[in-house]
Amino acid sequence: MSRSLPSRVVGTLLGVLLILNTAVITADKGPAVPGAQMRRSGRDGLVVLRHDDTYFPFHVPAPERGQVSVQTANIDVNWNPASCLYSTTPWPANAQSAFSYAVSIWETLLDASQTVVIDACWTPDLAPDELGAAGPTFIYHDPSLPFAETWYPAALANEFYGADLSPREAEVLAHFNSGISWYLGTDGSPGASQVDFATVVLHEVCHGLGFGGSMTVDGGLGSWGWDWSPYPAVYDRFTENAASQPLLDFENGSTALGTQLTSQDIFFSGAQANAANGGTPPELYAPSSWQQGSSYSHLDESFNGTPNALMTYSLANAESVHYPGPVALGMLEDMGWTAADPAPTVTSITPGSAMNTGTVHVTNLAGTNLLPGASVLLTKSGETPIPGDSVVVVPPNQITCDLDLSGAATGLWNVKVTNPDAQWGELANGFVIMDETWTKTFLPLVLRNHP
Ligand SMILES: [Zn+2]
Repeated sequence: MSRSLPSRVVGTLLGVLLILNTAVITADKGPAVPGAQMRRSGRDGLVVLRHDDTYFPFHVPAPERGQVSVQTANIDVNWNPASCLYSTTPWPANAQSAFSYAVSIWETLLDASQTVVIDACWTPDLAPDELGAAGPTFIYHDPSLPFAETWYPAALANEFYGADLSPREAEVLAHFNSGISWYLGTDGSPGASQVDFATVVLHEVCHGLGFGGSMTVDGGLGSWGWDWSPYPAVYDRFTENAASQPLLDFENGSTALGTQLTSQDIFFSGAQANAANGGTPPELYAPSSWQQGSSYSHLDESFNGTPNALMTYSLANAESVHYPGPVALGMLEDMGWTAADPAPTVTSITPGSAMNTGTVHVTNLAGTNLLPGASVLLTKSGETPIPGDSVVVVPPNQITCDLDLSGAATGLWNVKVTNPDAQWGELANGFVIMDETWTKTFLPLVLRNHP
């Protein structure tokens, strides 16, 4: 187990390293970047999804394909490849079908030029309460990436690079517990004592795309960089405490950072994530006792029972969540992904009398009208988002607002319309869920009782 840093890669775009330290891969299986080093991912680099053995009949439907504007991602799966870190048993055919269904949802949500390959392992060796465990196969850093001295997950690094940095290796490594009472259908209707497998696949793929950081607590000391590296993960670049202090401002390997990470009060603050969370940073799971594989790399428990429930740290029986939710998608966007904007669709923007005012016309509202409190946000990759000021909603589908475009870069901006829901609060990133659907599925609300 080496703790030395990789040599810098000279004359190549990206430096290459694998998450966590174990055996060095031989050169013939190495990355496409000459001179780079790769290391196998270790088990402790995986983020787990735990089983909450309570009954919680809650369902978030998959996005309507007709509402998805970008469908360019391609995701391939290797079943039980040699890279699995645990012993495997053969995949049941209906588990593979549910897996493909979940993957197809991600394919409609990401705008990606590079194929994402998932090494998918069906194993009896996970702990009884571990539904799945996943993460990127490799991490990369390079000064040309948006954050220098920062580890990027393989799939996202490939996107920035515009090519597969390691064509012989997958980008995501995901294990699934073969001993669970799974529901292997795709209609989101698990039985009272069943766990919805498609939900778990959606969740683990999200980790593999980069939803998760390197911070950990050991003996009260908080640290980042996966033990052997002084560089944080791109996710770590966005985490902060309730006073908006970046966690990276705390000393690496300090009690102070350990205290923050177990404060039950830490957040992910990024423009897109915040916009998707009603303008405030979404809270992360940070229990007072550090839970390796669960703490920090999941959304707070307050997101249970909401459209953002997928990326909480556990999944209950009878619960199915077939959409990542605007908050998780916003977090991925902040880290560099381009995610699709499902409905509503902005069909036109009519300039007002002044250059910086206008009317936004919105359609495809999935059966509901714009509600008072709806908001407008212009976004463009690499630019500071521009919020609409003095927003006035003109029912059913028109918004007028002022936009301060002074200093804004020229080019195509995305217009995101947020339509608040009276019962469930912010639904952002242009994603609107039909009111009647939510009323039906939310009626049997049951409080979760974590063991
Ligand atoms: Zn997880």
